[in-house]
Amino acid sequence: MYQLATAVGRLGTESAFEVLARAKQLELQGKSIINLGIGQPDFQTPGHVVEAAVKALHDGHHGYTPANGIPELREAVAEDLELRHNVQVDPDQVVVVPGGKVTMFFAMLMFGEPGAEILYPNPGFPIYESVINFSGAKAVPIALSEDKGFAFSAEAVLGSITPQTRLIIINSPANPTGGVTPREEVDRLVEGLQAHPQVAILSDEIYSQMLYDGREHVSLLQYPEIRDRVIMLDGWSKTYAMTGWRLGFAVWPKGLAETATRLAINCHSCVNASAQYAGLAALRGPQDAVAEMMSAFDVRRRAIHGALNSLPGISCVEPAGAFYAFPNITGTGIPAKTLELELLEEAGVATIAGTSFGRFGEGYLRLSYANSLENIRESLERIRGHLENRQ
Ligand code: PLP
Repeated sequence: MYQLATAVGRLGTESAFEVLARAKQLELQGKSIINLGIGQPDFQTPGHVVEAAVKALHDGHHGYTPANGIPELREAVAEDLELRHNVQVDPDQVVVVPGGKVTMFFAMLMFGEPGAEILYPNPGFPIYESVINFSGAKAVPIALSEDKGFAFSAEAVLGSITPQTRLIIINSPANPTGGVTPREEVDRLVEGLQAHPQVAILSDEIYSQMLYDGREHVSLLQYPEIRDRVIMLDGWSKTYAMTGWRLGFAVWPKGLAETATRLAINCHSCVNASAQYAGLAALRGPQDAVAEMMSAFDVRRRAIHGALNSLPGISCVEPAGAFYAFPNITGTGIPAKTLELELLEEAGVATIAGTSFGRFGEGYLRLSYANSLENIRESLERIRGHLENRQ
């Protein structure tokens, strides 16, 4: 019998994929399911982006590309970051990867090992904790609380640093909470980090263009004091409705871009060529589709926030970014996982229990509003019906 490496047993998962599979099963049985579980835009990738990929294939881009991405794409990323964040990035610091997740994995391979500690947000994207555990490092949760709108507390992060801390993961706008950390708090964090020059920061900015009510995105790249130890993760998945294309990038500190490229050579060689040309068209082409998606998300955000607050036993802070609502369900008296299962099996609404995002997620549910307004309204009525009949 084979003998598996113990590290594999430490890998976690992302429940959204399990809920998606169960929702599909129920649909095949003829049940009507509205999916507010999976975190992906319900829009199609903009037409000109699709055409660029088709053209790349017709033009013969069928071979390997440089492992860190085609130079035009890395230059376009640098130009885009200058435009959006007002930062200068050397295209050689940009490493294009098959989705934002790959950057997380690479960062953990670089920084995680037994004896090391890595700080991560909780509730937070479940893959952080999973890959920290996989690496053998100690996963140290930074609790995010509802009364701060699920923003980071610089004090909490800085107070958790020990001599063993190698890396801090932060994420704003955040999954699963929709929380956004304001500039003053990031300023405080950066100031405090100067006393800990050995600590690197992985800033997950995949939702950087998904902000509401005129909020600005604060990129960790904007702080020269810590720039030489910031890994900034972003990508095309959410902004351009390209989750299935598997395309993302990170800006690495100068010395680490080469290590990330070496990991890419060892792992996937390069991202598929046509997807890279699609990514180029997304950055260089018209941005109208992004603006249209964002205004649709904003309408849905208001609708879901209002509807959730009218449900018995449920209250919800207003999401400030991304496309998730994270209501507090403690007033229902139902544990998060139980409510998730009941809503899926009995009410036909797929949601994700807060506990899927870490232990501080108990008492919450994540609902993605990347779905039509009609479906959002219908699903909230189904949830209301379920809660009222249950009481
Ligand atoms: N980071 C966060 C916070 C996410 O929510 C996600 C996807 O849900 C990712 C990264 C991964 O993005 P990708 O699909 O590009 O791998």
